[in-house]
Amino acid sequence: MISIKQVTKSFGGHQVLTDVSLEVPKSSVIAVIGPSGAGKSTLIRTINALEPIDTGEITVDGISIHDKKTDINKARLNIGFVFQSFNLYPFLTALQNVTMAPMKVKKMSKEAAEKRGKELLTSLGLDDKFDAYPNRLSGGQQQRVAIARALAMDPQVMLFDEPTSALDPEMVTEVLDAIRKLAQDGMTMVVVTHEMGFAKEICDEIVFMADGKIVEQAPPSKFFTNPDSERAKNFLSKVL
Ligand code: ADP
Ligand code: MG
Repeated sequence: MISIKQVTKSFGGHQVLTDVSLEVPKSSVIAVIGPSGAGKSTLIRTINALEPIDTGEITVDGISIHDKKTDINKARLNIGFVFQSFNLYPFLTALQNVTMAPMKVKKMSKEAAEKRGKELLTSLGLDDKFDAYPNRLSGGQQQRVAIARALAMDPQVMLFDEPTSALDPEMVTEVLDAIRKLAQDGMTMVVVTHEMGFAKEICDEIVFMADGKIVEQAPPSKFFTNPDSERAKNFLSKVL
């Protein structure tokens, strides 16, 4: 579903991605972990062209994302992105946050968008928050609205960049539960996370990055018990 081939990227003279290749099969869930500055955010942002790349190729559902001939706005409809900071529209209610893009971009009727939006918010445990403004919602609730907003476009893949890092500890579980449910429903996902328990339990593969490279990729059963690289061993000794 997502294919990343030999991607390289620099900021100024600083190479932050070096020859990164990664295949994400349909319905699989990949955790990207690694130290700060490893290039995790940059990598995930290249998947929907929030960051350009210097060399290499990325395809999502067969569409070459960085090809100049590709209509990137159209391609992005297929890719949901959830950020660390929830980025909800502050002057819109939870439901309006969720229905805006389907109405504006997909020209969905208000009735259809609201029906779907309510279903999504309900499935995320927010059935009593349709009319709440973001400043009246907890961080965990806001992040679940952000997830509903991304899902409202019916994406084929979902990308998460540290979706729980800005949350108070007691709200982490509700957001991880929402992502777990998506995994069970077969959504293809790439999740940058520091939540090792979550990565171990939910993800099919762990991608460990350091210094702009994929140092190691393995199923969690292997990665967390018997990593190959010293970098990964060292990292795990600090975070587990
Ligand atoms: P991670 O998410 O793993 O912490 P990032 O992808 O955010 O890592 O950053 C990787 C490297 O790229 C870091 O050295 C960071 O300082 C640099 N970097 C990220 N974004 C930019 C930018 N917009 N301009 C210049 N350097 C950047
Ligand atoms: Mg990051």
